[in-house]
Amino acid sequence: MLKDDNLLIKKSKIDSYGDFTIRNIRKGTILFIFPGGLENINIIRKNYGEHFLDRCLEVDYGVEAMTIKGSFSWYVNHSCNPNCGISGNSIISMKDIRKDEEITFDYSMSLASNSWKMKCTCNSINCRKIIGCFFGLPEKLKKKYLPYSSNHIRRKFKIPESPLYSMK
Ligand SMILES: [Zn+2]
Repeated sequence: MLKDDNLLIKKSKIDSYGDFTIRNIRKGTILFIFPGGLENINIIRKNYGEHFLDRCLEVDYGVEAMTIKGSFSWYVNHSCNPNCGISGNSIISMKDIRKDEEITFDYSMSLASNSWKMKCTCNSINCRKIIGCFFGLPEKLKKKYLPYSSNHIRRKFKIPESPLYSMK
């Protein structure tokens, strides 16, 4: 199982496996990049199928940052009470995170259409049960998530966008 300076993959209560911190992480730390490059959503659907698409990150209308099987991006779980968010095509901490915590983001942070929905069993006290589009979130949550949302959502609310990182 993959490990780097900040994270390792291990069994999770949320969904089989997840990404866990192996040191204390400061707010604003880029934890990983979706490593497969950018691709058109329809090409991914056609070449890899819907299940693979579920693990990619919507970074703009019709544009996905691709996952790679076995990477941190493959195993990162959703939570309705997340400690991370989105910066371009990467996952960034939205608060200080202690060692041995699972890192999660809210999948709604990237979803600009109602075509994708997921039943949630994250067990947070504020669990929304059904996860869907950003625009359907309560106002307070939208405000909290906006600086950690995908660029096409930020653009809509006229807040600064994030750079897309390229793999070295
Ligand atoms: Zn939930």
